[in-house]
Amino acid sequence: MTTDWDVIVIGAGPAGSVAARQLALGGRRVLLLDRKRFPRRKVCGACLNHGAVTLLEEIGLGDILHDGGAVELNGFDLRSGSRRLSLPLPSGRAISRTVLDQKLVEAAIRGGVTFQDGVTATVGEANDHGRIVHLKSTNDIVCEEPRSTLQECHPDLAAKRRRQFDLKIAHSSVALSGLGDSDAGESGGLRPRLNAVADSRLMNSANAQVVLSADGLGHPSLCDVREIRDRTVRSSRIGAGCEVAEFPAEYTPGVIHMAVGRGGYVGLVCVESGALNIAAAFDARLIRDCGGPARAAASVLSQAGFPAIPAMAEAEWLGTPALTRSTTPVAAERLFVLGDASGYVEPFTGEGMGWALASAVALAPLAGAACDDWQPALATQWSREHSRLVRRRQRTCRMLAAFLKSPMCVRWAMFLLPKMPRLLQPLVHGVSLPTPQSLAITRCG
Ligand SMILES: Cc1cc2nc3c(=O)[nH]c(=O)nc-3n(C[C@H](O)[C@H](O)[C@H](O)COP(=O)(O)OP(=O)(O)OC[C@H]3O[C@@H](n4cnc5c(N)ncnc54)[C@H](O)[C@@H]3O)c2cc1C
Repeated sequence: MTTDWDVIVIGAGPAGSVAARQLALGGRRVLLLDRKRFPRRKVCGACLNHGAVTLLEEIGLGDILHDGGAVELNGFDLRSGSRRLSLPLPSGRAISRTVLDQKLVEAAIRGGVTFQDGVTATVGEANDHGRIVHLKSTNDIVCEEPRSTLQECHPDLAAKRRRQFDLKIAHSSVALSGLGDSDAGESGGLRPRLNAVADSRLMNSANAQVVLSADGLGHPSLCDVREIRDRTVRSSRIGAGCEVAEFPAEYTPGVIHMAVGRGGYVGLVCVESGALNIAAAFDARLIRDCGGPARAAASVLSQAGFPAIPAMAEAEWLGTPALTRSTTPVAAERLFVLGDASGYVEPFTGEGMGWALASAVALAPLAGAACDDWQPALATQWSREHSRLVRRRQRTCRMLAAFLKSPMCVRWAMFLLPKMPRLLQPLVHGVSLPTPQSLAITRCG
């Protein structure tokens, strides 16, 4: 059975949920899909920088951070070898992705979006009336809105939506093995096997005037769209993360702790629940040599002089595929790509969510126009806008990522920065680090 929509948005991370909401607020009929059941975990440093916080406020979602109990960030504690650099942060918030993404989906639903989780989507052919999206259930699910969201807030609307959303769900299940579920659908050093059970057959398809692919690293939903290509940087690191409830008091709330060592770096921050969120970028080789991400993280923390966290060994780690990658082009007929799906670089500066949110807000009017009257010029326009918003800034991050590969360079920089804070100027323009004026850099240890 085919269902018609103005817009289908694939992926309910920050990019997808916010784009879907913006479009629904503009009067479009929007279906938002995610292959995971929500709320779901996601490998991320869990830090929203000043730009991301401001943008959420500007689009009327500032309350999400308050309601979600986001922790205010005021410091950055960088350590490598025997060096330590403490920087004040102008503003920022720490919030787990489990809570943030659930709240963004709830806001999208309140804005009029129909949300279905547990559905893996694949973009199909464009036709005269729109673009086909093939749907496959990834769980045993029934047609329902996410639990304790729409049902509780708007029971009448929930019933209406359920009638609208006319999907017949085939039974299937997902068997996860290894480290836990990965963020993307392609192979990578840490990626577990995602085994759809044999009879998980194609269950359905839907049609939309416009499709937005916001499905994260490697954009798995575009596997059949030949004109859009993904290029992974060979030496790219891979991501890994977990959360622990017990940890040494030195990891203070409100501070981003960052350890840089041989083969990777690890970021640690306290989130709303009081747990410590741990997110890392590792060379695949370090994980192999150490025998897993917990040991790799322990090695980097120890090299940087941070206290050990025994709970990491028992924690459930999730992984990502290669982090540094690009997508070209970022649009095709009746199809736009945004967020991590449109390319990403290593996450040291914690900008990914800011890029995702900014892209979502910028793309919504273009996607709306494409619903009324699809024109190839809209694809060109999105490529240009995407380059202005994201690509140029990613270039700076890419240089920083290359620099971070050498802990020796990092230690030299940490030695020089307290003497010459203006050296930060080029970085500050490229990414959202504190301005030199606001920095009172101290060197300890
Ligand atoms: C180690 C690490 C640390 C990071 N730290 C930070 C940080 O501190 N601050 C920051 O701003 N950013 C950080 N980032 C980056 C940030 O996590 C991403 O940039 C951000 O999540 C991008 O959002 P998105 O909406 O594009 O994609 P995602 O958040 O990845 O969402 C994509 C969604 O699509 C779904 N999906 C995938 N395939 C399909 C399919 N076929 N059908 C349906 N659904 C599908 C997935 O389940 C997922 O929910 C970090 C990243 C890593 C790896």
